[in-house]
Amino acid sequence: MGRVILVLNAGSSSLKFSIFEAGGCGVLSAMAVGQVEGLGTAPRLKARGADGQVIVDQRWTTSELANHAQALQEIAVLLRSRFAGQELAGVGHRVVHGGPDYSAPLLITPQAMEKLATFVPLAPLHQPHNLAAIRAVQEARPELPQVACFDTAFHRTQDTVAQLYGLPYEYYERGIRRYGFHGLSYEYIAATLPDVAPEIAAGRVVVAHLGSGASMCAIRDGRSVGSSMGFTALDGLMMGTRPGNMDPGIILYLLQQEGMSARDVENMLYKRSGLLGLSGIGNDMRVLQDSDSPRARLAIAHFVYRINRELGGLAAVLGGLDALVFTAGIGENSAHIRRLVCEQARWLGIDLDPAANEQAGPRISSAGSRVSAWVVPTNEELMIARHTRKLLGL
Ligand code: ADP
Repeated sequence: MGRVILVLNAGSSSLKFSIFEAGGCGVLSAMAVGQVEGLGTAPRLKARGADGQVIVDQRWTTSELANHAQALQEIAVLLRSRFAGQELAGVGHRVVHGGPDYSAPLLITPQAMEKLATFVPLAPLHQPHNLAAIRAVQEARPELPQVACFDTAFHRTQDTVAQLYGLPYEYYERGIRRYGFHGLSYEYIAATLPDVAPEIAAGRVVVAHLGSGASMCAIRDGRSVGSSMGFTALDGLMMGTRPGNMDPGIILYLLQQEGMSARDVENMLYKRSGLLGLSGIGNDMRVLQDSDSPRARLAIAHFVYRINRELGGLAAVLGGLDALVFTAGIGENSAHIRRLVCEQARWLGIDLDPAANEQAGPRISSAGSRVSAWVVPTNEELMIARHTRKLLGL
């Protein structure tokens, strides 16, 4: 009987999953990838097999499938029906926050769960869902080993200087510091560069993870030395619905002068800002690229402007730049955004090869470019599966 690893990534209204073959020490391959989305509104389970064919596409009413635990039951049904010959050997979870100390994945124990719950105030919109998925597995299959893989862990190699805010020091000790996120994505890219782009793998690299959430990370010799995201995933670049870095005085103004509540401000910062807020059209980059609206163009121009500001800052942190790597939904798929970014970064020594850019590289800079540019698809689920296999000794 073959053994499989289930990878779970629980969001507020979705439960993404991947099923990996666990056996042997060879390359891990995904046998199925899917998600239950629309929890609380219009639940739907959709999954594809290794060949990309849809293996299940099912919908429910909200009352039939209301929460993560029920979503997990449906994934279990899928496992039993489509992968009947396989034994589930363990579950790996994406957990957004590992706090100041966890710099590596963690085997879940009751003590570990208590500790992870203390990080809920640091990521109130994400951490509770991640922990709910772990609890749901515990209840359904208490004997199954589970592993938490943190989005913050990869950044724990950063210097204290890079993690500080200029607040009274006691707040640093109380946990108000730059954590950085998208760590599983950056770790995957750092692990992949020796194969895809060996000439830059040990160099000074900035990776731009441009998805609905977006951030950038300065990596030297495979380790994180700086990141655009900080205490929360609101910092840094402008994103689909989040503003990114902004004057904290704006928040005081909104609270004190505009009479907004903390909840209103939170809603605006997480859900109504960024590409959506500026364009007034939406947060999907494809829609904005196809639009003639001046506000869509303005939103894209600001998105690119902010990437370049951050690129300059992270290049300074690295003391120079050898390569820029694009990844995630926009980074991997939008030749237009990559071209705009690289054109603005010419001064840094990036010379784009337009044809290579249209084909998504992997190398998209000219042969003579002093600083090279690349497209490297990310795979956070595979990173979680690797950690889970290693930690469980599978
Ligand atoms: P997340 O995993 O954070 O939800 P993704 O990494 O999947 O996000 O990225 C989603 C973003 O990628 C969306 O803004 C979407 O518009 C964008 N995207 C996907 N494909 C393309 C494309 N071909 N051109 C431009 N943007 C794209």
